[in-house]
Amino acid sequence: MSRAGRFPWQKLYDLLYGVYGECACPLRHDTPFQLLAAVMLSAQCRDERVNQVTEKLFAAAPDPKSMAALSVDEIAGFVHTCGLFRNKSENLHRCAELILERHNGIVPDTMEELTALPGIGRKSANVLLGNVFGKPGFPVDTHVNRVLNQLGAVDSVSPEKIEQAACAEIEPEKWCNFSHLLIQHGRRVCVARQPRCAGCVLRSICAGAKE
Ligand code: SF4
Repeated sequence: MSRAGRFPWQKLYDLLYGVYGECACPLRHDTPFQLLAAVMLSAQCRDERVNQVTEKLFAAAPDPKSMAALSVDEIAGFVHTCGLFRNKSENLHRCAELILERHNGIVPDTMEELTALPGIGRKSANVLLGNVFGKPGFPVDTHVNRVLNQLGAVDSVSPEKIEQAACAEIEPEKWCNFSHLLIQHGRRVCVARQPRCAGCVLRSICAGAKE
């Protein structure tokens, strides 16, 4: 996957950690179910908007039982500003029902069970594993994908291949924070349109650094 020789993954982690440290999940939540809902709503939607929406949604439906008791239209009334809201409302409602039916109202904590829920893919499952279940999880979102490709750490846009490459190099207990670090850097410095290479702490290890 690496374009030229062996990429210094550990140095990458350390350089980013020096800037951003231990990162918290930016999606507000009090329980695994609330993070599951927030992650689902965050597809193609900014975290700030999701947090605004979930403040009211969770006041009305904080857990699977109360979420399943709402109609899809009622959920849509809360989440309509999140984009793709019809799909998200249907998935959230069905998820709540399935968590009650299959898991006694408790969000499961395995990749297999999580990805069997509607609207929960590998990235979302990894967010849950890493942020609320204390299990290794490396979510690959658009920022993680872009930054690792810019660096030359990977040469693939496949989230699964990127996850494999990173997880083979970084200790499992760091996976979740590593993803947060890359996301922070992708939002603040290695931005999509015009990466701010001049002030980037990763210049010395970056294949895509611009003058
Ligand atoms: S040097 Fe530029 S391209 Fe490389 S990670 Fe930093 S901002 Fe992105």
